[in-house]
Amino acid sequence: MAVQIHPSVDNGVRKGSGTFAGGTLVCKCKDKPVKVGIKGDVAHNHACGCSKCWKPEGATFAVIAVVPRENVTVRENGDKLKIVDTSATIQRHACQVCGTHMFGRIENKSHPFYGLDFIHPELFEEEGSAAPTFAAFVSSVIESGVDPSEMPGIRARLKELGLEPYDCLSPVLMDAMATHVAKSKAA
Ligand SMILES: [Zn+2]
Ligand SMILES: [Zn+2]
Repeated sequence: MAVQIHPSVDNGVRKGSGTFAGGTLVCKCKDKPVKVGIKGDVAHNHACGCSKCWKPEGATFAVIAVVPRENVTVRENGDKLKIVDTSATIQRHACQVCGTHMFGRIENKSHPFYGLDFIHPELFEEEGSAAPTFAAFVSSVIESGVDPSEMPGIRARLKELGLEPYDCLSPVLMDAMATHVAKSKAA
């Protein structure tokens, strides 16, 4: 049996349309689902192995991307949302009933990623948002209970899917963070 990464990529990574104009994220509730409107396409979509990102039942990784925070609007049943951990850097707004994380927001204005919200593109009702392109925090899946002996198989499967495995963020994002730190030190 193939290594399970995440239901949205286990049968192959579907390419984005390249013209995705946005859509609606919907939580897993049958009754009164939370709906969050997203303007435009997602960026930096990736599989994430950290223990904080929400993942659906049975998934080893989360699939998560960013969008500008001004492109995120709670449209329906926002009263069901609650911040998972108010002390965390990323304030994850989750449906209290089904547990789905609808968006994660950074409120610290000096954080390198301030201004970007984290969302799970698999929750879009619509098809065609930009596909995941790498896997972050791969070694961290061990902290969520994956046996270390499974890691070579997981890394091989990620590569096969075209999701280059990294044990932190991708080089592009690590460079962006370091640049921000260097600039704020110089200021
Ligand atoms: Zn829900
Ligand atoms: Zn994560």
